[in-house]
Amino acid sequence: MRVAIAGAGLAGLSCAKYLTDMGYTPIVLERRDVLGGKVAAWKDEDGDWYETGLHIFFGAYPNMLQLFKELDIEDRLQWKEHTMIFNQPDQPGTYSRFDFPDIPAPVNGIVAILRNNDMLTWPEKIRFGLGLIPAMIQGQNYVEQMDKYSFSEWLKQQNVPPRVETEVFIAMSKALNFIGPEEISSTVILTALNRFLQEKNGSKMAFLDGSPTERLCQPLVDYITERGGQVRLNAPIQEFLVDESGCVEGFLIPGRNGAPEEVLTADVYVSAMPVDPLKLMLPKPWQELDYFKQLQGLEGVPVINVHLWFDRKLTDIDHLLFSRSPLLSVYADMSNTCKEYANPDRSMLELVLAPAADWIGNSDADIVAATMAELEKLFPQHFPSPAKLLKYHVVKTPRSVYKATPGRQACRPSQKTPIPNFYLSGDYTMQRYLASMEGAVLSGKLTAQAIQQDLRTSQVP
Ligand SMILES: Cc1cc2nc3c(=O)[nH]c(=O)nc-3n(C[C@H](O)[C@H](O)[C@H](O)COP(=O)(O)OP(=O)(O)OC[C@H]3O[C@@H](n4cnc5c(N)ncnc54)[C@H](O)[C@@H]3O)c2cc1C
Repeated sequence: MRVAIAGAGLAGLSCAKYLTDMGYTPIVLERRDVLGGKVAAWKDEDGDWYETGLHIFFGAYPNMLQLFKELDIEDRLQWKEHTMIFNQPDQPGTYSRFDFPDIPAPVNGIVAILRNNDMLTWPEKIRFGLGLIPAMIQGQNYVEQMDKYSFSEWLKQQNVPPRVETEVFIAMSKALNFIGPEEISSTVILTALNRFLQEKNGSKMAFLDGSPTERLCQPLVDYITERGGQVRLNAPIQEFLVDESGCVEGFLIPGRNGAPEEVLTADVYVSAMPVDPLKLMLPKPWQELDYFKQLQGLEGVPVINVHLWFDRKLTDIDHLLFSRSPLLSVYADMSNTCKEYANPDRSMLELVLAPAADWIGNSDADIVAATMAELEKLFPQHFPSPAKLLKYHVVKTPRSVYKATPGRQACRPSQKTPIPNFYLSGDYTMQRYLASMEGAVLSGKLTAQAIQQDLRTSQVP
């Protein structure tokens, strides 16, 4: 049983991995010459890695952690102290921490919040705690209903003082979806808070020990190919060929460098492409179906990942930092956090610039200049001098994860489609995690399960 999968991001690779476990033969076709999609990374001429995004793994990622276990690469996750660290714009050069003690949830989270007195006052914490009561009592059902409100609207309705938003939730909202609380759906923030508060190690963070392409995607490819599957790079799907009944007959791969075009046929087909290119590739007959029409409500959000190499150490913090800067989101000194990027003498900062809509069209030099200006505020002890910028890389993703504004939950499709031999995978498809690595891995697993289920009940022709 051959399954053709378009896209070698985490969703496509996870789908292929679980299909091989079920005894099927996946053939993954990737448009680019690099694995990983939004976790893709490249080596520059000096041998330094740069990435599509600064990626954090959370304790609340059960499917991802299970996958690491199944691939026997758990030692590649570098777990950090259980804390969240924020820059303090009012006191440049200083940090405020939420330290989670080693006691059961939710008490560890509550203690972390109560012990932090830099960012919120006691009345603000109490008001916010009271605001969360409906989410705690009614659980995920309530969280899903709140998709109609932005997080700013939700905070107002719960009478939470505006400073709670500016102090904490601009940073959290930008970290989760690269947009501010006035745009993000309440469901996104409340889902994350739920996981972080309900699971003892939910908010514990890990960095991979090297580039995701080599350290996570390659072991997936090895696993798939050792079991008879294939993963082909430079194999862009140009068209889903469909028959009169609307079923897929093949994936059309255009000819390149003198090679003829190819029609790849299989028993079952999966799109693990992002939602934006998928929408452009829907065959005409499918466009009339409500299932595919809902995809028009989903669109990738722009984000920029900036890498800066310095001639000296700027910080010895071995963790993710929430910058709380209007320009930047989270960042880390990768020379401390990641084994393969380690350097005892020089810092390499990897910073996420978000919201990025106003910056995505700018030159790399402009983006770096603006980032450096922000760093002067965060590290007044190092800038404008003496720290010297040695080199930089800027990676722009004009359409990254889907923009999780209010109402998007209703647009997220199931992995099973109305087309009997065609399925969807991807972080944007419906699964209980947000658009994230965990969501992508889970979606791939759900797609494999849906295919197996349908084959068992013979729904696939
Ligand atoms: C800057 C940034 C930071 C992030 N930080 C985090 C984080 O800290 N933690 C976290 O959990 N998540 C994070 N994410 C989100 C995470 O990277 C994504 O949710 C996840 O990787 C998406 O996986 P996917 O397989 O669904 O999609 P993708 O990774 O987009 O994979 C889709 C693949 O399909 C391929 N494709 C497209 N068109 C075609 C075609 N025509 N033919 C064949 N192939 C095609 C693409 O090239 C791509 O490889 C971050 C994302 C970014 C951009």
